[in-house]
Amino acid sequence: MSAAPNSLAVYAANEHTGKGRRYEEAPAEYRGEYQRDRDRIIHSTAFRRLVYKTQVFVNHEGDLYRTRMTHSLEVAQIARTVANALMISDPLVEAISLAHDLGHTPFGHAGQDSLNACMRDFGGFEHNLQSLRVVDELEEKYADFPGLNLTFETREGILKHCSARIARKLGALGKRFLDRQQPGLEAQLVNIADSIAYNNHDVDDGFRAGLLNLEQLREQPLFGEHHDVVRDKYPQLDDRRFIYEVIRRMIGQVVTDLIENSRSNIERLDPKTIDDVRSAGKPLIAFSDDVYEKHSSLKKFLHENLYRHEKVRGMNDKTKVMVEVLFERYMASASELPDAFEQRATGRQEADKARVVADYIAGMTDRFAIAEYERLY
Ligand code: MG
Repeated sequence: MSAAPNSLAVYAANEHTGKGRRYEEAPAEYRGEYQRDRDRIIHSTAFRRLVYKTQVFVNHEGDLYRTRMTHSLEVAQIARTVANALMISDPLVEAISLAHDLGHTPFGHAGQDSLNACMRDFGGFEHNLQSLRVVDELEEKYADFPGLNLTFETREGILKHCSARIARKLGALGKRFLDRQQPGLEAQLVNIADSIAYNNHDVDDGFRAGLLNLEQLREQPLFGEHHDVVRDKYPQLDDRRFIYEVIRRMIGQVVTDLIENSRSNIERLDPKTIDDVRSAGKPLIAFSDDVYEKHSSLKKFLHENLYRHEKVRGMNDKTKVMVEVLFERYMASASELPDAFEQRATGRQEADKARVVADYIAGMTDRFAIAEYERLY
């Protein structure tokens, strides 16, 4: 039994019953509202910059490693398969996937940690919240409103987590964090598709970089099972093709599990609307316990052996200093900022000025941040 890709279940997000845009607009003639969100994201400046932003490996370390852009495309592709299988909104999961990392600083998590430390006395910095800020405020594309004026459902999916303090400031969008409600299924899905994408592509990138080897990967249950099957079936396969063959099977296994387990969660609750999904108590899009455990084990393994590998850490230490130096220089002299940012920063209180500086730094690509650092230091 397979459904046409556009037929939607009653519990899916639906633009006709959705919560709409912050600034009212006439509907588009030939596109649905979530398609329109996706298109606005693709046309945004922040999206184009993802090409030159670090996922794990700093952009100039090699052309074949994932960047935030290729990562986001892989998230979208995984999420869309699941969305169609569950008859939830394909264009909405695509829009959320493509936007989910827009707020990332240059240099990946090292950049975010460093900027957060710089912003400690000014309200902090968090990439997830920044992604929302990019689409709500920072993109300047339209005459009639700031930001991209996306639908509530896309914005709900972008804001994965948030503190109670921030949630209170966000009105309707923050309400679910205070009421302990779930977001719609599309948002739940992208959250997991994100981790499926990085768990798998980071195995590939880590192996390519020579920081992970087959012996240690084989100890991971997800990798190990497929490793042995593929080795038996193709004993002569060279390492590169071998690892691809294992990874494609790992993705296939976890995606299939996610579809089947989520489908039975949905059948059990039998939600009639997206509001039933929101008040379900826990996410319905979820792995089975067995796969969840294996998936989490691989995630932990990558933290310990790749993200905290001394070679990755060495690069991180350098890039952290760069972000600190940039922040200090712009705070000391706003005239180093481009005109539009300088205007926003001038005559403002320290905290507001710091936010302008953080917005500017967060928007930078890796290579632009390095060039700025060299210019100013
Ligand atoms: Mg991501």
